[in-house]
Amino acid sequence: WFITFEGIDGSGKSTQARRLAERLPGAVLTREPGGSAGAEEIRRLVLNGETGRWSPETELLLFTAARRDHLEKLIEPRLSEGRTVICDRFADSTRIYQGATRGDLRDKVDALHALMIGREPDLTFIIDMDPATALARGMAREGAESRFESFGLELQETVRAGFLALAAQFPERCVVIDGNRDADAVAEDIAARVTVET
Ligand code: C5P
Repeated sequence: WFITFEGIDGSGKSTQARRLAERLPGAVLTREPGGSAGAEEIRRLVLNGETGRWSPETELLLFTAARRDHLEKLIEPRLSEGRTVICDRFADSTRIYQGATRGDLRDKVDALHALMIGREPDLTFIIDMDPATALARGMAREGAESRFESFGLELQETVRAGFLALAAQFPERCVVIDGNRDADAVAEDIAARVTVET
């Protein structure tokens, strides 16, 4: 099983991905952008670089290259061994961040995905929560490396709406989870749904 977690910055998805991985014996926990050595290098190029270094199109190509490397080196090999792979962000993040927040590149995102990635998750948890709370959480997080967090509430609102629209577009694999609860309650909710779905 290939399970992904998506949501706005500060939604708690990374915590929830880790907690689900701890519950599933043999599950592999990974993340994007990154997850393989090459993809982590690309992550640094994009996220630690100066703002505006890459055009929206180049950024899309870099994230797609990172995903391709992650897929080849980690995701596909582990899935072939029969292991569950849990990924903190995947292609849905690109559909929203690269596809919708820096212009309308969604057609290019979809074309590149079809050409170079192809893989969709079996199950996607979209952790939905109040953007203002999530933003405050994200800003408070120690070592937050995100240049995107500085874009503020308006971006959070756009991304949240984007993820909810994706949930409606891909209802067969997407489950929207109310993230406005304490982490234990959210983790229980997710675990229950994995038991039902798998
Ligand atoms: O999820 P994580 O905090 O690791 O993401 C790092 C940053 O990269 C976030 O601010 C997120 O908004 C951004 N990002 C992006 N495009 C993606 C994935 C993440 O802009 N496809």
